[in-house]
Amino acid sequence: MQLKTILNRVQKFKSFVYKSVRWVGNEAAPELEVEVAERANGKPVCSGCGHHRPGYDRLAKRRFEFVPLWGIKVFLVYAPRRVECPSCGIRVEQLPWARGKRPLTRAYGWFLASWARRLSWKETAEVFRTSWESVFRSVEMAVEWGRAHQDLSGVQAIGIDEIAWKKGHKYLTLVYQIDAHCKRLLWIGKERKTKTLLR
Ligand SMILES: [Zn+2]
Repeated sequence: MQLKTILNRVQKFKSFVYKSVRWVGNEAAPELEVEVAERANGKPVCSGCGHHRPGYDRLAKRRFEFVPLWGIKVFLVYAPRRVECPSCGIRVEQLPWARGKRPLTRAYGWFLASWARRLSWKETAEVFRTSWESVFRSVEMAVEWGRAHQDLSGVQAIGIDEIAWKKGHKYLTLVYQIDAHCKRLLWIGKERKTKTLLR
């Protein structure tokens, strides 16, 4: 079975295809690069408005880090097109696997964010040989997604807790839903004052 077959199984895109896979890096730190190309006749999507627009030109190739395979780092390689959009001007196309200019793919971001729930951010970065910044950005992505999709209907009981962070008595206030059918963290606020809770 080819790596492309596996990728198409775990993450298939409507408008892009996986091409050749090659070894890069060195003996001690091998890496895999997977070339990605747009499908023929596929018009790029404007990252400003999300509409299909005519192509304008193409930027240099970029690497987007994907979930590692058997401990080997995996990168998707693609040269993004720019579109000429009547409402947004010249814009880089929207890529379904990426978040703006971020070097991590969404898939790898979710992967790191899920491990960062079990391990400390520092441990997560060490285990997957990535930076603390990458883990932080991944958690941030997950939190942003959670906020945008948060549904507070049906919350009947809440609990409030505080945790100390850093040295020097800095606190965070945590608000949880504590209903029997659903226990989850709803909100985090700086400090532990009445003002904090009123927010
Ligand atoms: Zn646009």
